[in-house]
Amino acid sequence: MPIETHEPVPLPDVQRELERQLEERLAVLQELEPFALPSVDPVAYQSAASHRIAIEQITAALNRITLGTYGRCTRCGSQIAPARLEVLPHAAACIECQSHAEAA
Ligand SMILES: [Zn+2]
Repeated sequence: MPIETHEPVPLPDVQRELERQLEERLAVLQELEPFALPSVDPVAYQSAASHRIAIEQITAALNRITLGTYGRCTRCGSQIAPARLEVLPHAAACIECQSHAEAA
């Protein structure tokens, strides 16, 4: 089966990449956690918070792979551009919905 260059990244590859990112984030978070209190280390606290958000987004993307809805915008249901997913594998919304969300 020939592989077209414009084809989206195969799902098993996406899943592997997401799982790798998830593991990495969890490891970092585990190291940060003991200091991640606003009164102890505000920088670690901020950083832990952003890792937690990313972990949530990655977990949600892995769930969408399981459910078979990966690659679809969670807001409008349209296909997310493969180029966007390549850069941001855990993207939950298409560029249009994302820009609406950011403007709001
Ligand atoms: Zn959308």
